[in-house]
Amino acid sequence: MQSLTEIVLDYVMCENACAAGIATVETLAGGPPTADLTYVLPNAKSAVCFALPLDQSLIPPYLAKKDRLSHERDNFRTNFLASGIALGLTRFLEQKGFPSYAVAANEVYRQDTPRGAIDMIPDVSLRYLAVRSGVASFGLSGNVLRKNEGAAIILGAVVTTADLEPTDPLPKEDNYCDNCRLCMASCASSFMDPEEEASVTLGGIEFKYSKRRSYLRCEFVCGGFTGLHSSGKWSTWSPGRFTIPTDEREFMPALLHGIDAYNQRPPTQGGHHHVLMDSRLYLTCGNCQLICHPDKEERKRRHKILRESGVIVQNADGSLDAVVPEVARERLASMDPEKRALYERV
Ligand code: SF4
Ligand code: SF4
Repeated sequence: MQSLTEIVLDYVMCENACAAGIATVETLAGGPPTADLTYVLPNAKSAVCFALPLDQSLIPPYLAKKDRLSHERDNFRTNFLASGIALGLTRFLEQKGFPSYAVAANEVYRQDTPRGAIDMIPDVSLRYLAVRSGVASFGLSGNVLRKNEGAAIILGAVVTTADLEPTDPLPKEDNYCDNCRLCMASCASSFMDPEEEASVTLGGIEFKYSKRRSYLRCEFVCGGFTGLHSSGKWSTWSPGRFTIPTDEREFMPALLHGIDAYNQRPPTQGGHHHVLMDSRLYLTCGNCQLICHPDKEERKRRHKILRESGVIVQNADGSLDAVVPEVARERLASMDPEKRALYERV
């Protein structure tokens, strides 16, 4: 007869997970506050963590600015699928007599932090569960990676009062990260510190990745408010070209200005509703994750695709065009000042 640990791991693998593992209160001990399972479930003993693969075939066209919508749909749906699998397993465990908590794959934030939800601190960090339970390894980017799927995975988890058997972290040789730094080169916000490392210790094991600068950097760019790289040669899928500050203290006013402009832009195809946004959120970045393929040649190819993908400008009907930087400048210059101010300072 299968043990409950074997059954819960099999439960998520039956739903097409590419990996599953178990972290416990003990194996997460000593970690940051978001590694505390009892924050979401007072009598928690363990957590089942799993990963779902994104569709790799949709990533190069997304980076090339040929097709945004297909990857966005795959990304949002895979997140909802991970949350749904977590809910299914939660109900399964509860009916077996173990109160449990389904961790949403994304977009759930703690309210009890200094600025509340805008700090975007998750209820439980899925990354910590993943690295400690052997679902994935940390890359330099701070994203988590798997040797077959790369960083193109979406994590899910269930926190439970069931006393499940922990699984071990992945061996070092399974981590393909070679410090190529293409994740950093693909980030218009310079979110990852190129010099300093951060480390977390979970259950006596240390994990390292690049130190993150202010989270407002990623919010400003990944939120879609701006996206032009400092070179001016390529952008994310955002039509915004507000300057990305170098001084951390300038990010909050820049972000507030960007949000105000964003809310006045015409809607485009796709997107979905996000708790911190008044208008729909569109997937416009994620470059650090999508670049990071296990094959270094493919990683380099993707970075080249991104660098040569042009910059985004928005049409009056909301649609987006990828054009060369000179054409973008002409298109912006031809807009009336009120419209132009939705994309850049005038
Ligand atoms: S892009 Fe390169 S440096 Fe960054 S996480 Fe991936 S392998 Fe590591
Ligand atoms: S999602 Fe985009 S802005 Fe955020 S860290 Fe990754 S590359 Fe940078």
